[in-house]
Amino acid sequence: MVIPQYETLVNRIKTCVKCDLCHTRTNAVPGEGSLQSKIMFVGEAPGAREDEQGLPFVGAAGTVLSDMLKLIGLNRQQVYIANIVKCRPPNNRDPSTDEINQCWKYLEEQINLIDPKLIVTLGRHSFGNFFPGELISHARGKPRKWNDRIIFPVYHPAATLHNPKLKPVLQEDFRTMKSLINDSQLGLETTGDDVTNKQLAFDFDSNQLPNKQVNDGI
Ligand code: URA
Repeated sequence: MVIPQYETLVNRIKTCVKCDLCHTRTNAVPGEGSLQSKIMFVGEAPGAREDEQGLPFVGAAGTVLSDMLKLIGLNRQQVYIANIVKCRPPNNRDPSTDEINQCWKYLEEQINLIDPKLIVTLGRHSFGNFFPGELISHARGKPRKWNDRIIFPVYHPAATLHNPKLKPVLQEDFRTMKSLINDSQLGLETTGDDVTNKQLAFDFDSNQLPNKQVNDGI
C-alpha cells in the first residue's frame, strides 16, 4: 500500500521551501483523488481558490473539469488530480523554469507512487513539460507513449472559459479519452453517469500507439 510514502510526500510538499513561491502561498496544493486510480490529470499550477483551500481545481476551471468528467461518466474521486507546480505563482503568472524544475521532482514521485497508466495533461504548459516544443493544438486528443505510460493531451479547462469555442473541442477529447479508457480496461467503466469502478487489471498495449517517444521530463 502506498499510503505511508504518499503521506510523507504530501507533508514534504506542504512544507517545501525550495523556491520563492513558499513565501507567497497560503497553502501548497499537493494533489487529490484516488491513489489507486490508473488515471492522473496534471494541470499547471494552483490558482487563487486552490491556494486558499489547498486542493487542486476547485475554482472555475475545476467546475469545467468536473463537468467534463461527468460527461464521460467519471467523478473526481475515481481519478487523481495534480499540478506541475504545487504553489500558486503570484497573480497567476506562468511558473518560472526554476519553479518548474524544483517541483517536477514531486510530480515524478507522485507518478511513481500512484503509478497511473494514463496521464491526462491539462493545457499547453502541462503538456510542454512532458513534450517540450510541441504544439498543444496539434497534439490534443491523441494518445502517445511517455516512458511506460500513456499521455493524453487536452486543452486546459480554463481555456473554455476564455474561448467558449474550445468547449466542444474539449468535450470531443474527453469522449475520445472515454473510448481509450474503456478499450484499455483501465478499471473504470465510463458508460452513462452511473460509474462502476471495477479496478480491472490494466493491459493496454502502449506499443500500438503512434508517436512513440520517451522523454525524461524537463
Ligand atoms: N489551473 C490549474 O492548472 N491547476 C489548478 O489546480 C487550478 C487551475
